[in-house]
Amino acid sequence: MSYIIPVWDLPSIPVAGRSERFPVRHIYCVGRNYSEHAKEMGGDASKEPPFFFTKPADAIVPVVDPDVGSVRYPAATKNYQYELELVAAVGASGANLAPERANEIIYGYAVGLDMTRRDLQIDMREKKRPWDLGKSFAEAAPIGPVHPVAQVGHPNRGRIALDVNGETRQQGDLAAMIWDVPHVLHFLSQYYELLPGDLVFTGTPAGVGPVVPGDLLVGRIEGLGGLSVRIAPPR
Ligand code: MN
Repeated sequence: MSYIIPVWDLPSIPVAGRSERFPVRHIYCVGRNYSEHAKEMGGDASKEPPFFFTKPADAIVPVVDPDVGSVRYPAATKNYQYELELVAAVGASGANLAPERANEIIYGYAVGLDMTRRDLQIDMREKKRPWDLGKSFAEAAPIGPVHPVAQVGHPNRGRIALDVNGETRQQGDLAAMIWDVPHVLHFLSQYYELLPGDLVFTGTPAGVGPVVPGDLLVGRIEGLGGLSVRIAPPR
């Protein structure tokens, strides 16, 4: 096969303990999946079905502990924010998944950051326009290695916390999700056939906030290790 322009690399993430990498196909994200975060975003914590948005696969920035990754402060924002999230990595296909069967398609889990141009997201929300400008841009998804289910099981409780410059800003427990991972996949798979290589960001606990160039983000989820990222100056 030949192409009319040079072809880029398939986005991929290291797999803990293996030399093979996890190729990334789609990135799906859940909005407001911890009640304290739903409140801080001006919503309520009622148990409505979850809603979803996407990021491009090439928004990932793989970072392996103890390395410190780097993401550039993005264009067109004055309010660039972090959201630390548990990410499920899908290893098999599935549509209309029953919650009891949804875990079967998960290959593993990772620590991820749903980086957000909050001013653009809120502006779009208020104008009833899509969230893409706020959520979907270059380097918007720093992520640690995928930990296979064979090693870590299906984490459904445990501390999830983010420090900025050594100060704890986000702190919660996976058990506080409004919809657990099997239910997230159950709902998501009614809209999309989930496919091998898909990543699902499962929502963030309370404490989101802005960062500036030079800031160091260190996220951690019990059992899945750490993810460290420094914010680089804008282009
Ligand atoms: Mn998020």
